[in-house]
Amino acid sequence: MIRSVKLDGGLLRNKQRVAVEKMLPYQWAALNDQVEGAEPSGCVNNFKIAAGKAKGEHVGLVFQDSDAAKYLEAAAWAEQVKHDASRRKNVTQMIKLFEKAQMEDGYLNTWYTLKEPGKRWTNLRECHELYVAGHMLEAAVAWFRTTGDRSYLDVMERNIDHIMTVIGPEEGKIHGYGGHEVLEMACASAYEVTGQEKYRALMTYLIDERGKEPNFFDEELNSRNGESHWSRNWPLSYFQAHKPVREQTDADGHAVRACYLYAGMADAARINGDDSLTAACKTLWRSLVDKRMYVTGALGSTNVIEGFTFDYDLPNERAYSETCAAIALVFFAQRMLRLEPAGEYGDVMERALYSAVLPGVSEEGDKFFYVNPLSVWPEACQKNNDLQFVAAQRQPWFGCACCPPNLARLLCSLQNYLYLQRDDGLYAILYGSSTAQVETPAGQISIRQRGGYPWSARQVFEFEGDTNEPYSIFFRVPAWCKKYEAVLNGQTVALVCDNGFVRLNRRWQTGDKFVLDMKMEVRFVRANAAVRADAGKVAVLRGPVVYCAEEADNGANLSALTISVGTKVTAQYCKDLLGGVVALEAKGHRELAALDTLYGDAPRHIERVKTPIRLVPYFAWGNRTPGEMDVWLRRED
Ligand SMILES: [Zn+2]
Repeated sequence: MIRSVKLDGGLLRNKQRVAVEKMLPYQWAALNDQVEGAEPSGCVNNFKIAAGKAKGEHVGLVFQDSDAAKYLEAAAWAEQVKHDASRRKNVTQMIKLFEKAQMEDGYLNTWYTLKEPGKRWTNLRECHELYVAGHMLEAAVAWFRTTGDRSYLDVMERNIDHIMTVIGPEEGKIHGYGGHEVLEMACASAYEVTGQEKYRALMTYLIDERGKEPNFFDEELNSRNGESHWSRNWPLSYFQAHKPVREQTDADGHAVRACYLYAGMADAARINGDDSLTAACKTLWRSLVDKRMYVTGALGSTNVIEGFTFDYDLPNERAYSETCAAIALVFFAQRMLRLEPAGEYGDVMERALYSAVLPGVSEEGDKFFYVNPLSVWPEACQKNNDLQFVAAQRQPWFGCACCPPNLARLLCSLQNYLYLQRDDGLYAILYGSSTAQVETPAGQISIRQRGGYPWSARQVFEFEGDTNEPYSIFFRVPAWCKKYEAVLNGQTVALVCDNGFVRLNRRWQTGDKFVLDMKMEVRFVRANAAVRADAGKVAVLRGPVVYCAEEADNGANLSALTISVGTKVTAQYCKDLLGGVVALEAKGHRELAALDTLYGDAPRHIERVKTPIRLVPYFAWGNRTPGEMDVWLRRED
């Protein structure tokens, strides 16, 4: 059992600190309508009204309650990072409100309590009742795990009991599932913490029922005479309900929903020992990672469905790449690791974390990206109607505020992603300066990890305690690392990397010191030729970090820049740049704009001048003077 992990230095620790100290208080203010100039959230007030503590009308969207749940989940994880009495008071106040707002039969959802009281459970396809319940349950589990306080979990247990009187396989119940997945994962968490069979049963039912014929969503829509909450009828694939989940082979539809479903499927596959579900998860993983994922680990090629289109369609300027979708991919990858410890899952998890999740929040922690394009021309975002879904700068808050609280709950729970314990040993997955207390079958050990990850990859592990007998620890060697050295107590040890991990099996004792020195080099990456958007271009990566060019360093019109693969690139840690990052410097060229008409004869040789090119981590872009940004650069030969 992993008793505790505390990040205590480095980039992930800094991001976590920003989340705990800045994002959470800011979000609490936003949920309470106390941020000047921001659209009122109404979230806390809705619960007050439902609890009979305030007067007024429901404000916000049909899933507004989920913002409170995400805040509470983040606050629960934050308690593990740093105790804060006033934050704890906020949570206990909210739990009291939930208790009062909950109906006698266990129902809890302010939209249907206040706004459409007669219409509960009439629109599972579009109205997020099960989604809200999922986030509420996940938060309740996190709060119980961290504090041992059961009161929130008790509220949610009554709520789940109620849901199971309405939805399920028995006659007279709705044979359905939610349009926005998340309850599947939450039931898995609740099952693992409480051991209560009902959570496992509901998780299994929701996954197995999805997409069966006759299709529940179609039937439900017909029973409403085609009436839609959003005045739009999405295809079944948008909800991953076009086929039973075991028959789905492509990552389809809304990207956040898809990955929440896949994460829930991976949980269910592991908990139930279900091989056919494991196979489906692996097939969907391959579709995602091999054909539909941006180089940053972002997901979603179109804003129209906020999701996937078809293989290799990965436009850069029009990328949707919702921050939440990258968070969902981190969840999916973590659950695939639990299912089967392959290094690839860790590689994708860290790619998505560093280059698709972290870009979502500003250095200061007070501004957010919802959409994360890989190429930005600010004027186009302002003046081209097709691009108005792209914000060229991070925003203080959103009317549909899914991403900021989702970011907070992931950043506050990063400690859960460093290590993974399985029957065959302990796996070090994400690297970062930290201390971990781990219970092994024969004794407790403490692991102190030091190192400069992700800027360098020489990680030092110092041990205290005694495992009393040999115990395996597996250390992930990312696929980007071609050369590594392992040193145990001063002696170089030859360790073979197997499926992304090197393994040390020994009796660990106080004073043991293991150094994993992974060589980190700048890499030029190209895309498959089928990715039209990246033809003739390269992306520059170093370790798990994807880089980009910004106007602030390179002037306007980044598309005139060209860079040669293999050109010498200097990597330098700049402590005053963007909160402290490794920046890359290379020599490249800039094409001269010699044409004074819109079109003209092309010269045989392009006129260009030498120019230094500076690249910064993509996650840190947009923290200086607003301007252009490009991840993919034109390649020269
Ligand atoms: Zn979002």
